[in-house]
Amino acid sequence: MNKRVFSGARPTGRQHIGNYLGAIQNYVNLQDEYQCLYCAVDIHALTSMTDTSELQDNIREMVLDWLAAGMDPERSIIFVQSHVPEVMELHTLLSMITPLGWLMRVPTFKEKVKMQPDNINYGLVGYPVLMTADIILYKAEAVPVGEDQLPHLEIAREIARRFNNLFGNTFPEPQAKLTSFPLILGLDGKEKMSKQLGNDIELAATPEETLKRVMTAVTDPARRYRTDPGHPEICNIYKLDEFFNPSQRDEIADQCRKADIGCVEHKETLAEKMNESLRPFRERRAELATKPQYIKDVLADGAQRAQVIARETIREVKQNMGLI
Ligand code: SF4
Repeated sequence: MNKRVFSGARPTGRQHIGNYLGAIQNYVNLQDEYQCLYCAVDIHALTSMTDTSELQDNIREMVLDWLAAGMDPERSIIFVQSHVPEVMELHTLLSMITPLGWLMRVPTFKEKVKMQPDNINYGLVGYPVLMTADIILYKAEAVPVGEDQLPHLEIAREIARRFNNLFGNTFPEPQAKLTSFPLILGLDGKEKMSKQLGNDIELAATPEETLKRVMTAVTDPARRYRTDPGHPEICNIYKLDEFFNPSQRDEIADQCRKADIGCVEHKETLAEKMNESLRPFRERRAELATKPQYIKDVLADGAQRAQVIARETIREVKQNMGLI
């Protein structure tokens, strides 16, 4: 059997092109080599969310994008974290063996404390334990991560190792499947593309919306007039050409440096190429959106298949811990 890979994503609703180029395309490609479990981590989302009125919509919209992009429920297990409650059981058991000092040192905890000073909840501290439970419940051997996420995975490996030392070899220590996640800047040209920051372009946007959004993008700030020569290497529109218009990239860079092309014209070309490249995805998505029952069935089937693995792991864990 192929090695097992686990990856979870917070249900943030409709995905943007940063999600697509940075993660979803990788998810799709990994399916050729691994047995993949892809999870919408709704419990994690609760660490920074008190209003859950849009949670179900956000899960559905994200999964719609996943499926339309080629994540295949026949080959992969696609499910929602809370639909397999065994993960919470494992989280509780692992929390008994995880030193608090490890958790307090995690940089993301410190960042979250700064970001949401009025909602520093217990779940934030235990976040790495739940993340570990997500991975090792399914005995995943590999987790696709970017280099910057290696410390997060290290804590999961430490917790798995500690469990194995205390109660006997139970879990594989998950390895990093180092994956290049290209950093996609948002339309502001400064921050990573993010829905929260409002600097994104939704994958499922209409061609007109896409053009409108691209037109708002910040370009080379030194190019104030059409006649000013530009610096494509610092321009985010040019960066996006790498993915959507690679064949014309050199030519456009040259024209930009000589002020032979204006930013408006370049943006129009990029939006057109983007729309062209996303057309098949958008058509599939529109079709899937007419079948809400299909999405529910995919997630129910995914949860059922994930639960078969989860129940077996929990049985083994309890036995090894002396609980049965
Ligand atoms: S012409 Fe294109 S590459 Fe040059 S600054 Fe304008 S948008 Fe950027």
